[in-house]
Amino acid sequence: MELPPIEETAIERATDFPYRDVADEINNFVYPPTHAVDGQGSISIESRLPLAAAMPQSRPYAVYVSIPFCRVRCHSCHCFKGLLPNASTRDDIMERYVSALIAQANAYGQAHRFRSAVCDAIYIGGGTASVLTEDQASRLISALRRAFPHNTDMEVNFEGNPADFTRPYLENLKACDVTRLSIGYQSQQQPVLDALNSPHDATQSRKAVVEALSLGFPTVNVDLLYNVPGQDFAQWSRDLADLVALGPQGIGAGDYVVFPGSASEKLIARGRLQTPHDLQTTFQWYGATRNYLGEHGYAEQVRGIFARPGHAQRYVDLCCPQNGDIVGLGAGAISFIDRYQFQNPVDALPFIALSEADRPFEAQCISRRASDRDLMRRFVMHNFFAFRLNRQAFSARFGIDPLDAFGDVFDRLRTYELVDIDEFEIRLTEIGRKWRRNIYHEFRMPEETSRAAAEWTTPSLAARGNRLSSANGG
Ligand code: SF4
Repeated sequence: MELPPIEETAIERATDFPYRDVADEINNFVYPPTHAVDGQGSISIESRLPLAAAMPQSRPYAVYVSIPFCRVRCHSCHCFKGLLPNASTRDDIMERYVSALIAQANAYGQAHRFRSAVCDAIYIGGGTASVLTEDQASRLISALRRAFPHNTDMEVNFEGNPADFTRPYLENLKACDVTRLSIGYQSQQQPVLDALNSPHDATQSRKAVVEALSLGFPTVNVDLLYNVPGQDFAQWSRDLADLVALGPQGIGAGDYVVFPGSASEKLIARGRLQTPHDLQTTFQWYGATRNYLGEHGYAEQVRGIFARPGHAQRYVDLCCPQNGDIVGLGAGAISFIDRYQFQNPVDALPFIALSEADRPFEAQCISRRASDRDLMRRFVMHNFFAFRLNRQAFSARFGIDPLDAFGDVFDRLRTYELVDIDEFEIRLTEIGRKWRRNIYHEFRMPEETSRAAAEWTTPSLAARGNRLSSANGG
């Protein structure tokens, strides 16, 4: 694998290039942000959501299921939700948690909105979904299938840690018709795993992939991390080449981010972890990764998520280009339904307590109701996760061409060579791909950008919600 020669262009180096200094670590997936419009605490959402009305145009939707426990906390993970309860209470809490999930699934599944369309993808992640026992995983998957109308080929994703993916555990998932197994492989190099504080070791990473492939899951996806503190390009190249040789149908390649307040930030400050590379170098590694995976038959679906033909992730497609409803089940899960984004209680015990009190429709925080313009902004941002916006799809949804809706913004992006525009679509250029997080700010309201930045830098609610993919354990 070779590093492509990427140098900053003159336009990026110009002093008036407006995208360089924008704070970029905002969870743009969560838009509108889930600020508590009614203050913190339990917010009944049932009266706000049009649950009794049919889904517009019978659009398919996705279901995200949060298993909010991990065996350890990796050093810079924004998906961590909580540690597994200790042994004396674990069985009781896990059983009650699974029952609470099933009860919430049934409550949403009975709503006319979700009976008038089909669920096309379920994503069971976390935290770490594989902390469920085999029996709990089976019961949960069966209950989800019963709760939501779906076609026979609905995608069922199950994400977990290589240490949990023993042969019997994988056989059970296969018997449950999991269609896409996602393995939080991270790396096969022990020093890299140590730098991450990973819950598994290098032998387990490889073994889980080999076992999963031998069982014939329709899609096996393997998530890796690059730009980990101390990792060099030779290690990254070896990881990628070893994995491609094994031949999973999907590969997630995520760049390591040092999140504010994380253990890795503190360890770097104390000189116990190296600082990851800068944006330019990271983008170079990303470019090399994209080229290498492209040469080996993997197409990039959204940034960092690659798949062989016929193995693109439907959950991502529903969330991003299609911008459909997402029903978030479980502690910390974020839903987007109609015009509201809202989040369930972040911790497991309050979530269980609400369920046991028969209150499945209570959120911890909720966005304001999205305006038509907010929905357009969200649509553009989520399509730019996949680097392109189909003009016809935008017009069909909103009755206006995106160039008419956001003419001055697209003019500016074109001036700085960040987008190419033709009659069919608006595409991020190579430069646009590099600055894409900063470009999203063009589509957020200014006051939302500063509030969301503050939210991201506190022990955030939104940051602990759903994700598109993690290279990590769960
Ligand atoms: S990377 Fe996975 S296992 Fe590690 S803390 Fe994050 S969600 Fe948990």
